[in-house]
Amino acid sequence: MPSGTSRAHGLHVSLVCSRDLRHRDRMRGYFDYNATTPVSEAAVDAWREASVRHWHNASSLYREGAAVSRLLEEAQSDVADWLGAEDPERVIFDSGATEANNAILSHVARTRPGRVAVSAVEHPSIAECARGVLGGRVDEIPVDADGVLQLEAMRAYLAREADVALVSVMAANNESGVIQPWREVLSLCRERGIPFHCDAAQWIGKLPARGLGECDYVTGSAHKFGGPKGAGFLLVPEEARDFRSLLGGPQQEGRRAGTENYPAVAGMLAAWRRLECRLPECAASGLQHRTWAEGALEEQIPGLRIVGAGAVEGRLWNTVLFILPEHDNRRWLTRLNRRGFAVSTGSACSSGKENPSRVLQAIGEDFAAMGRTIRVSSGWDTARSDWEGLVAAFAAVHAELRSSGEQPRHTGKPAASTNAGEW
Ligand code: PMP
Repeated sequence: MPSGTSRAHGLHVSLVCSRDLRHRDRMRGYFDYNATTPVSEAAVDAWREASVRHWHNASSLYREGAAVSRLLEEAQSDVADWLGAEDPERVIFDSGATEANNAILSHVARTRPGRVAVSAVEHPSIAECARGVLGGRVDEIPVDADGVLQLEAMRAYLAREADVALVSVMAANNESGVIQPWREVLSLCRERGIPFHCDAAQWIGKLPARGLGECDYVTGSAHKFGGPKGAGFLLVPEEARDFRSLLGGPQQEGRRAGTENYPAVAGMLAAWRRLECRLPECAASGLQHRTWAEGALEEQIPGLRIVGAGAVEGRLWNTVLFILPEHDNRRWLTRLNRRGFAVSTGSACSSGKENPSRVLQAIGEDFAAMGRTIRVSSGWDTARSDWEGLVAAFAAVHAELRSSGEQPRHTGKPAASTNAGEW
């Protein structure tokens, strides 16, 4: 290699490294990756490049439009490939998981008779939407004490119900990180010819995506894995030619009208591509750090409980949902935040909106416990020292709350959180 090129390459590498270090520094106290993630440099670069070079309308008939159309087709192929789906045309790009979940349930409500089964711990974009568009046609399948879908209950339900239009079970839970037996439910559905949907918004970017393409419908969201917000995708069955997410123009075969946001798609793919190859390394170290932190916190805060600790297939390597022994979660959250840490009340949906945690409701915890949950969710670059800082902050807040003389409040209602973060 000519020395000029190698010097330039060295400069590029050191610029990238110092950018990454600055980024890491900014993210030290951030433990709310399940709510959203910082957009990755790879995604920003891809978005910028696409915005500058490929901003044309993919429907336009001239060369530049056709080029964007081709890039979108390549993006469909990449997504299909990563999911292990054979037909790239099954991929539709959209604004994220809420849109996808709504579109799938609305499509089923419109085109098929029969009942729809969802797990009791689905995200509100499934639970609320199902109630809204399917009304009395929805059945909730219970979870066990760890928040894992009860496979036996699902099996019995499918044996009992003659006409099931769709089963929807998430891959991993957003509050507790508990991994759901979606593969087993998929095969139960296959045996009976029932369409199966998997909301993989929390799975993608944290665990290998391959295999998800076997499901009839899959939902993904870019901002959960370092992509831009307002971007996502959905996988539909080959035969669902009449699928309609948004009505309007003929974009994406008429299945999702509206000018395609290619720069956002490019950003999403760049973020995903970068993570897919880092997964084994991140999962191993992430799990090690989290396990250490859980042990340390259990020692320092007697009575602290972990939701889903006994889940058969475990939890996402980055997530832990604690039920604290005393003081409502808002007090913990604001004091941790003052020390530079961002965590969630566990169901940030409840943030300021007073909706109690779906997971805690489903596993039969009382209202008081729902007001004492804290969810901690780390990222791909969260280091052991970041976890050590968080554990120390928890211990300090514990001591502060105990010495404050304030009565631990155990209200009958969960506290509205100031962390208007996720759903
Ligand atoms: N499903 C799950 C499991 C989620 O965690 C989320 C986001 N918290 C959504 C759906 C909604 O995703 P989006 O923000 O892309 O609408």
